[in-house]
Amino acid sequence: MQEFDIAIIGAGIGGASLAAMLADAAPGRPVLLAERESFPGYHTTGRSAALYSVLYGNATVCVLTAASRAFFNDPPPGFSEHPLLTPRGVLYVAAEVGSDAVREVRESAARTGTRALPLTPQEAREMVPILHPGPLREALLEPDAMDMDVHGIHQGFLRRAKAGGVDLRSDAPLLAASWDGSTWTLTFPDGPVRARKLVNAAGAWADEVARMAGVPTVGLMPLRRTAMMLDPPPGFDIHRWPAVIDAAGSFYFKPDAGMILASPADETPSPPCDAQADEWDIAVCIDRVQNAADLPVRRVSRSWAGLRSFVADRSPVVGPPALHPGFFWFAAQGGYGIQMAPALARVGASLLDHGVLPPDIADAGVTVADLSPDRCYGD
Ligand SMILES: Cc1cc2nc3c(=O)[nH]c(=O)nc-3n(C[C@H](O)[C@H](O)[C@H](O)COP(=O)(O)OP(=O)(O)OC[C@H]3O[C@@H](n4cnc5c(N)ncnc54)[C@H](O)[C@@H]3O)c2cc1C
Repeated sequence: MQEFDIAIIGAGIGGASLAAMLADAAPGRPVLLAERESFPGYHTTGRSAALYSVLYGNATVCVLTAASRAFFNDPPPGFSEHPLLTPRGVLYVAAEVGSDAVREVRESAARTGTRALPLTPQEAREMVPILHPGPLREALLEPDAMDMDVHGIHQGFLRRAKAGGVDLRSDAPLLAASWDGSTWTLTFPDGPVRARKLVNAAGAWADEVARMAGVPTVGLMPLRRTAMMLDPPPGFDIHRWPAVIDAAGSFYFKPDAGMILASPADETPSPPCDAQADEWDIAVCIDRVQNAADLPVRRVSRSWAGLRSFVADRSPVVGPPALHPGFFWFAAQGGYGIQMAPALARVGASLLDHGVLPPDIADAGVTVADLSPDRCYGD
């Protein structure tokens, strides 16, 4: 039976980035990266809005996103032929002055040293002239927010993992997992393999994989989010517009390849599945965007949905449960799995190999307990 040091289940951005960092740390070590689908990235990773905003997410997520920027700006040689980040900017807007949502964005900016420039409603409308004046009472610009090349980032990690000796297998669903006290026996359609550590990077299926392995689940909540492509408003050059995000979380839209990518920022609980856009959510999106902006919609050229998976505190779950040291969580990336991937993968590799956080992440105030699965189990 083939033996691996580490078996990672799921080759979305989570599994791929972790596999690459493990290969970097110890090239040639036996690592298996097993993906159920024919191509990695079929699920949530291939369905994102491709936005990098340090101010989007809770305090832990902000730190991990900020700590990922250096990698995106200067990836290892050969990682990608194209820049991974391109300028976009995010305009956070609010329909009331002094809202908690805007205060939280401002606090995140102060905590992470990220620029967040207060704009008057008039200045905001000069940047995005289709915004209606009525519901635009407050605006903050994050000028250094970026668009991400998600495909390039994901493929770069997969290439790097393979170059470092990781055994990437597609069409390889984990079917069963049993632990004899020191080693896992993992069953795949091609037969069983053995592994010293089992890493759960199964996205929306992470609780299912834990159940299969006899490990307590973390209360993962896959939440469906819808996105769609709309025609650009006639008569405007939209290319340099920032993304517009409602700070209260009821919609966002941004230019994307000459079109407008829009979302109602929905969070509908769902079992793990191949999520599809729902007609109702598409209608809600159009209604919310049109309440905020003058955007005629004649047709929806494409729509899709994906599952963003969270635990209660909305931080990722990374680390071994105290009672099951052979099992390692790398899940609950929520709506930030791409933008924080380089730093989170460094965190995962460091915890797996040394049981501690990388110094820069610890110095920024994130603790092992903030990420540990044990925080999800209650007393
Ligand atoms: C509409 C939308 C917009 C988003 N926008 C952004 C954004 O702007 N910026 C950002 O950073 N993030 C964004 N996200 C979130 C981001 O896409 C996710 O956080 C990230 O993709 C999660 O990656 P993952 O690897 O955990 O999950 P996935 O990509 O779902 O990968 C998990 C993989 O595990 C595999 N798997 C499951 N069970 C098994 C098994 N038993 N055996 C083998 N394989 C298995 C699955 O097939 C899947 O490929 C967005 C998400 C959505 C839906």
